[in-house]
Amino acid sequence: MAATMRLEIASRVAERTLAGKRAPGLAAVLVGEDPASQQYVKNKHKACQDAGLATAVHRLPATTSQAELLSLVAQLNADPSVHGILVQLPLPKHIEEAAVIRAVSPAKDVDCFHPENVGLLAAGHPRFYPCTPHGVLQLLRRNGIATAGKHVVVVGRSNIVGKPLALMLMQKPTATNPAAGDATVTVAHTRTQNLTEVCQLADILIAAAGVPAIITPEMVKPGAAVVDVGTNNVAGKWCGDMHESVWSVAGWVSPVPGGVGPMTITMLLYNTLEAAKQIDG
Ligand code: NAP
Repeated sequence: MAATMRLEIASRVAERTLAGKRAPGLAAVLVGEDPASQQYVKNKHKACQDAGLATAVHRLPATTSQAELLSLVAQLNADPSVHGILVQLPLPKHIEEAAVIRAVSPAKDVDCFHPENVGLLAAGHPRFYPCTPHGVLQLLRRNGIATAGKHVVVVGRSNIVGKPLALMLMQKPTATNPAAGDATVTVAHTRTQNLTEVCQLADILIAAAGVPAIITPEMVKPGAAVVDVGTNNVAGKWCGDMHESVWSVAGWVSPVPGGVGPMTITMLLYNTLEAAKQIDG
């Protein structure tokens, strides 16, 4: 599904360049040597190249000061060949992430982390959809799993996954907010009591806790759809939040590895194309 969407995006990029427009440009900024971040940026860079986007990775040492990073962001904000800016998180501890997120021009904030874009999303007038939540909604829609009127339980309430996903799922779809889910949404977290009973209510259960095997078969209503977002490394092996025996109860499963991860990268390409359309027409 991610591959199909990337082909769709590549063809829209080709149409733009054939029409004489600039190729959508994504600038990725990587500070430090964190191996997982390096891998994420490498995957995103390759996906951009494959889809015909103009992409550059700015690699900075872990000793980079906040002022130096903000200066690079300002330069990218002013560069007309850059339509999307991605600052890979986490940043080294001496840099305030919120300050960097606020420094990215909202028009180029393809991660949808800037407070202005979070506000627009919450108000139901999104400029961009955040990549992982949008990837989850596209996975469901393109697999024919309707969310309208369904009870969706989201386990996790982070600013990157759980909270924006819950917002998108509960909103009423409109012409300018087409991905909205029209669902009844419950959000669970570490203070939720009776997590098993809460999850059993779900027609669609979305696990984004980052806890291996936290979702067990008795938490899943028979026939429910389960989307695993969790990405955990256990003894060098990638796994999600879902215990593998959930397959025997669920009606449909999006597992890890696979599923949401490749869709997240795809939605980054989608947002970069959207940014180019909004900026260049
Ligand atoms: P996060 O910031 O650590 O948030 C985890 C959330 O899960 C928190 O809201 C936390 O509750 C809740 N939680 C943790 N343990 C729980 C428990 N035992 N019971 C109920 N709720 C629990 O993580 P994140 O950034 O949202 O990421 C979540 C997972 O998705 C991670 O494994 C991450 O690697 C993965 N991820 C994947 C992608 C992708 O592209 N595939 C993208 C982003 C993230 P509290 O708020 O109460 O602490």
